[in-house]
Amino acid sequence: MILTRLFLPLTLVALSLACAGTPAPVAAPESQRAEPSPGYEILWVRDAAEYEAAVVQTYRLAGERLEEAARDREAGTWAVILDADETVISNLEYSIRRAAVGARWSPESWLEWALAKEATAMPGAREFIDGVHRLGGRVAIVTNRSEEVCAATRENLEAVGIRFDHLRCRREGEKRKDSRWREVSSGEGTGLGPLEIVMWLGDNIHDFPGFDQDARDRGGAAFDGFGDRYFVLPNPLYGSWEPDWD
Ligand SMILES: [Mg+2]
Repeated sequence: MILTRLFLPLTLVALSLACAGTPAPVAAPESQRAEPSPGYEILWVRDAAEYEAAVVQTYRLAGERLEEAARDREAGTWAVILDADETVISNLEYSIRRAAVGARWSPESWLEWALAKEATAMPGAREFIDGVHRLGGRVAIVTNRSEEVCAATRENLEAVGIRFDHLRCRREGEKRKDSRWREVSSGEGTGLGPLEIVMWLGDNIHDFPGFDQDARDRGGAAFDGFGDRYFVLPNPLYGSWEPDWD
């Protein structure tokens, strides 16, 4: 590969000199080549060791930070909030299937996928969640999956070994997660009593309180909580960074 990269340009120069007077064919720069199908974002999540390393690294660092946070807290008084999709479970297979028919997310295909309960556990998620329980914390999964697929999601999570104490899906009319996080704090409808939320994990900036895509305009200090009480997982497949995200 390296030799090809070194010698190909030289070969092209030699050919163009040999054919002086006739324009030499020029190979398209790599950046202008057509994107493969499935696209690079899917290939990165599916194939790149860097993706799995980044996910595992995030969960490990979150676990270490949590050990410190748990030291001063009584067991059963605190919780960690996690998002579901692309945080504790992966829907990569859904993206691959959609790409195979030249499409992305649609309400119908998503409903079918979610009801099929085929999402897989994200690397490092089970170990982290087991660690939360071992340290005396509760695990609340707050997801934007709709009520319609909540029972299937519960079964899917349980089937892949994600042990949670509370699962809260999105009800009609709900958009952001703030009110659902407050329920975890107050204990309203959770059956867990009031809990101090000590950490949030997610793949979307909306998984973190007070955050929106404008965080980058607010300067580096806006991200001070990350690596401390906020931990974000990489997701190049979709997100609120997309221009047409609702
Ligand atoms: Mg998510």
